[in-house]
Amino acid sequence: MRKNTLVSEEANQFHPSVDLPRIEKAVREILAAVGENPDREGLLETPKRVAKMYAELFSGLHLDPSRHLKKVFLENYDEMVLVKDISFNSMCEHHLLPFIGKAHIGYLPRGKVVGLSKMARIVEEISKKPQVQERMTHAIADLMNKELDAKGVIVVLEAEHSCMTIRGVKKPGAVTITSAVRGLFKSNESSRAEAMALINQK
Ligand SMILES: [Zn+2]
Repeated sequence: MRKNTLVSEEANQFHPSVDLPRIEKAVREILAAVGENPDREGLLETPKRVAKMYAELFSGLHLDPSRHLKKVFLENYDEMVLVKDISFNSMCEHHLLPFIGKAHIGYLPRGKVVGLSKMARIVEEISKKPQVQERMTHAIADLMNKELDAKGVIVVLEAEHSCMTIRGVKKPGAVTITSAVRGLFKSNESSRAEAMALINQK
């Protein structure tokens, strides 16, 4: 039976270009370098596990999320479509630590709408690579804009960065909010305000 999950099947398999033994070697090396003994029992399987984990967390490097937006429905609907609270986790490229949060995506269709779950799928795939939240926000907005030829696109991401909570300034609870607007949401202040009000409505 098909599992009801938003992670695509492709994302669950490791891409052939991912060099698992190389990651394992590197993880072993890190353990030795921090003064651990990679040969003690508890750590023996760790490099293997971490290699698979990285293959999964970075699987988006080998996927093209635009394929999810190729199937569109012609619909005479030109009001805003907004999908809120799409949870995601990604990896900060500066520390390789996760940032975890929610994405909100809205668009104003120009005769073409896309299945709502596809918006969650593109967030899922775009999140699976080392990056910064700012670039991830732009990537989602640009992809929606390009593939749907929408009148406007708005993307808001809110996330907690573990590189800020468990190290460095150590400020748990601090939330980073980024937004990207395209088309009408950029030029029309009331459209943007309407979208933001809906996003902020709890
Ligand atoms: Zn970081």
